[in-house]
Amino acid sequence: MARDVHLLPKAHLHLHFTGSMRTSTLLELAETYGVHLPEALTSGEPPKLRATDERGWFRFQRLYDIARSVLRTPEDIRRLVREAAEEEVEDGSGWLEIQVDPTSYAPRLGGLIPALEIILDAVDEASRLTGVGMAVVVAANRTRHPLDARTLARLAVRYADRGVVGFGLSNDERRGLARDFDRAFAIARDGGLLAAPHGGELAGPGSVRDCLDDLHAARVGHGVRAAEDPALLARLAEQRITCEVCPASNVALGVYEKPEDVPLRTLFEAGVPMALGADDPLLFGSRLAAQYELARQAHGFSDEELAELARQSVRGSRAPEPVRRRLLAGIDDWLAS
Ligand SMILES: [Zn+2]
Repeated sequence: MARDVHLLPKAHLHLHFTGSMRTSTLLELAETYGVHLPEALTSGEPPKLRATDERGWFRFQRLYDIARSVLRTPEDIRRLVREAAEEEVEDGSGWLEIQVDPTSYAPRLGGLIPALEIILDAVDEASRLTGVGMAVVVAANRTRHPLDARTLARLAVRYADRGVVGFGLSNDERRGLARDFDRAFAIARDGGLLAAPHGGELAGPGSVRDCLDDLHAARVGHGVRAAEDPALLARLAEQRITCEVCPASNVALGVYEKPEDVPLRTLFEAGVPMALGADDPLLFGSRLAAQYELARQAHGFSDEELAELARQSVRGSRAPEPVRRRLLAGIDDWLAS
């Protein structure tokens, strides 16, 4: 009998803040605040999105913005983070790096600094309550001005000893150049943060190369489109750059037609380290363990290979040494069970 992937210890390195919300919580908070939700967010089915064209991506962003608008108080933030951590426990995750652009929450939470502090306090509390190790990746938005990204990078560095471990860059890769954000990433790296920009999702392998060349990424959000370029795959493998691959998200956004088309095998066989992630469970309908289940079902990953994927997620994380050791030992135990 196949082992349960929920029991396989792993790290979750690609999860967005609002996108981690439970549907039931979204419905409840929307009711409380009188926010009208479009049917795409209430039907219980993941919305049909096609982000490969600009209109589809815009629609995705709009749904995300509406969902975010129900997060208004520190208590809402605490609830979101606590529930995200509870879901991690269910899915066998022992370490979560949650990604957030505090700019989006600043207006309702008293400004950028209070917003980040509220988020970091919530992360602390959720981690204590659930036992899941947690950290934060502060992500800049590439559709905004690079100066905003620099401000965020400085802020992120200031909170490096309070749980910020990385600096990201999200939103539509087809907009702007990675290079425009090189200064922000230099600030983050100099401050000891891990550089983890999105690339190789909506845009091709060139966008992954830009992340490496211009931003000195140590990890790439998605990165799957590197599969189209064997030389780039070799480089990712050689430099041990972990790709945060989110298969269900890729299919939901139309990057690939069906689960079988996500090039998990190509990356795995090329030796590119991967950390499977859920991206935005609220919008894509599945959480972390489901990504491992997809690797098993759609790509025939054996339990040994799933264990190796889990190890790669742990090795690619910023989890402290004792947590890494515990998770890696737990992976061996899972295989031995
Ligand atoms: Zn993402």
